[in-house]
Amino acid sequence: LVQLAMPLNFMGMIYREIKQALIDIDDMFRILDQNPEIADKPGAAPLRATRGSVRFEDVRFAYIPTRPILKGVSFEVPAGQTVAIVGPSGAGKSTLSRLLFRFYEPQGGRILIDGQDISAIRQDSLRAAIGMVPQDTVLFNDTIGYNIRYGRWEATEAEVREAARSAQIDRFIESLPEGYDTPVGERGLKLSGGEKQRVAIARTILKGPPILVLDEATSALDSFTERDIQTALDRVSEGRTTLVIAHRLSTVVNADAILVLDHGRIVERGDHVTLLARNGVYAALWNRQRQEDAAREVLARVEDDA
Ligand code: ADP
Ligand code: MG
Repeated sequence: LVQLAMPLNFMGMIYREIKQALIDIDDMFRILDQNPEIADKPGAAPLRATRGSVRFEDVRFAYIPTRPILKGVSFEVPAGQTVAIVGPSGAGKSTLSRLLFRFYEPQGGRILIDGQDISAIRQDSLRAAIGMVPQDTVLFNDTIGYNIRYGRWEATEAEVREAARSAQIDRFIESLPEGYDTPVGERGLKLSGGEKQRVAIARTILKGPPILVLDEATSALDSFTERDIQTALDRVSEGRTTLVIAHRLSTVVNADAILVLDHGRIVERGDHVTLLARNGVYAALWNRQRQEDAAREVLARVEDDA
């Protein structure tokens, strides 16, 4: 039930997790109620994702009619580039990723991948083209190897190991007495947030989709883990169109473009240097985060000394 309380952007994964775990059928219906299945149009064609450019055109969306969440959002992630989305909590950042996955449909505007409107293509082909690394990965109650292989069942042992290596989780796995056969999840070894995220990264590397959506964790990871994860994320996003809901300064600084979402609108866009110089919402956001980071570091040092 803990899983049911998790944010909706993990719906797809949770749904699969629930199917897998065969949790009480009532709970499954409750989830489906919140997220009514969106049907393919008759004769919908599969997505022909070539380079994976993503385009939002004047997208308008509300979960409840009286409360608009996105009020005309337009942006493009050119093929192979990384666009970071930042903004206060509740701004609608995760909603963008849910719409890209077509967990919901916009009430206005459209979303295109390589020029194809995603509302007109087959959902299985859409979801096959997008890899998602969520904030909070739900692991299956199975082995760690299974959890990586989930990205692509046909992958060889060597490919699984290679993906783990790219995700910087190979050494950790090899240090376990049972290695890749170690049971994880609720009934197995508990992994830290950073370890789970790296498993999700390995899974996505194995899947190898042209488009990536990363929802970075807000929770403070220790700086070593953060560096490890950043390296892993850089690997996975190399050469892929990447939309990242960014919380880490390092991600944002290196993004090709940054969009600042506030109250359902993009209020600023540009690169890090340009936006800092503007001294607006973005600058305020990052100055605050820098202060929080500094405070956290001091706190960690005090705790170390104690
Ligand atoms: P962010 O990721 O920027 O923090 P979200 O995109 O998750 O924000 O949510 C934007 C707004 O939409 C929030 O105010 C949130 O409460 C609301 N919201 C999210 N999911 C739902 C839902 N299923 N039903 C109604 N409101 C929702
Ligand atoms: Mg969010």
